[in-house]
Amino acid sequence: MHSFHYHNGSLHCEEVDLSLLANDHGSPLYVYSAATIRDHYRRLSSALCELDHHIAYAVKANSNLSILKLLAKEGAGFDIVSGGELFRVLRAGGKASDCTFAGVGKTRAEIKYALEEGIYCFNAESEAELCFIDKVAGELGEVAPVALRVNPNVDAKTHKYISTGKSENKFGVDFDDIAGIYDRASQELKNINLRGLQMHIGSQLTSVQPFVEAVEKVAPLAAQLKADHKIEFFSIGGGIGIIYEDSLASGSKDWWAGKSGEDKPLTLEQYAEAIIPSLKPLGLKIMLEPGRMITGNAGVLLSRVLYKKQGAAKVFAIVDAGMGDLIRPALYQGHHDIAPVKQSDRQPETVDVVGPICESGDFFAQDRELPKLEEGDLIALLSAGAYGFVMASNYNSRPFPAEILIDGQEASLIRKRQSFSDLISGEEL
Ligand SMILES: *Cc1c(COP(=O)(O)O)cnc(C)c1O
Repeated sequence: MHSFHYHNGSLHCEEVDLSLLANDHGSPLYVYSAATIRDHYRRLSSALCELDHHIAYAVKANSNLSILKLLAKEGAGFDIVSGGELFRVLRAGGKASDCTFAGVGKTRAEIKYALEEGIYCFNAESEAELCFIDKVAGELGEVAPVALRVNPNVDAKTHKYISTGKSENKFGVDFDDIAGIYDRASQELKNINLRGLQMHIGSQLTSVQPFVEAVEKVAPLAAQLKADHKIEFFSIGGGIGIIYEDSLASGSKDWWAGKSGEDKPLTLEQYAEAIIPSLKPLGLKIMLEPGRMITGNAGVLLSRVLYKKQGAAKVFAIVDAGMGDLIRPALYQGHHDIAPVKQSDRQPETVDVVGPICESGDFFAQDRELPKLEEGDLIALLSAGAYGFVMASNYNSRPFPAEILIDGQEASLIRKRQSFSDLISGEEL
């Protein structure tokens, strides 16, 4: 579900006309829907109501302070991957005690910061990291709550750059080594408290089967660790996929990822139904770390067509957003539907929609059939609310776009557009 739709021939987010918004704030411009974010959070939570569950939003998907604040108000916890993300959560009014800390390369400074703030748990990704957390905690006279991330060696069937649960990925600890490490750690590491077990097999999963496979494989291990080490939680990670194709039409539908024509489009109800039987008997707190599923379809990137160019082989629409604003197509062949903000009856045309950056990888669509675009037209790159702004760079010395949060008829500027002086702040002559 999402709140982007046409009204009187113009694309709206909730009750706000996006063409007027772009006139006021310029482009490129990220626009998010608060109602959509709340709806996604609540739907996931209610699908899992049978379980003692806790949703820790994966901050890296979209870490704007106002979005974190909105989710904190909903009762979400946070899954963080850096000290910077912990700082953001705290600034947004979130609690450290609701944070889990993931990632393969936590530094001493980050571990110390998280210990001092009192996070809920470190999710460690190697025995070496576990020993290091124990050491840092010992120096501070603290006991660090920890879980290990298990790599279940399950194929998530997603793009290779966002697959994390196979033995050849850098993430997690091999399934067969987990029990031995917990046993050793409980004997030898005096400054840690084994609090849980965690996994996360990948992102943008569009079928329920890999989740089921992973949960069924790891649940017995969680049960064993509960018996042997009194762990209190099992985190099954994030990874629920979203609609990228046909995403405007999907606004009114119940399916989550996959198309309506496919055998088994992923719905939250189906996801919950498939995993609850393995999880409920554990009697553990079940944690989830969704990122994309919460914010992905809740955001668009608005951009204006600067020029049309008829090349020898192709027609190009050159727009004012580039890979520095939204890198998913360049980084992992991510697809974004493109919708003209003003509806028209123009004939379709096959175009490449490209940015102004000096890289051939700087495109949003290739050979895409769209209603003929003209200079000055405003377009919306849909499903850009997750892994969009957070991956922005200043490459080519292009300032970051502004971000707007819509709530009903209210539009709040939640991040100012960068200025040229912002671009060079911190540099010395
Ligand atoms: C990135 C990440 C997530 C969130 O993944 P989504 O696909 O956005 O749901 C959850 N857990 C961990 C450990 C991650 O690294």
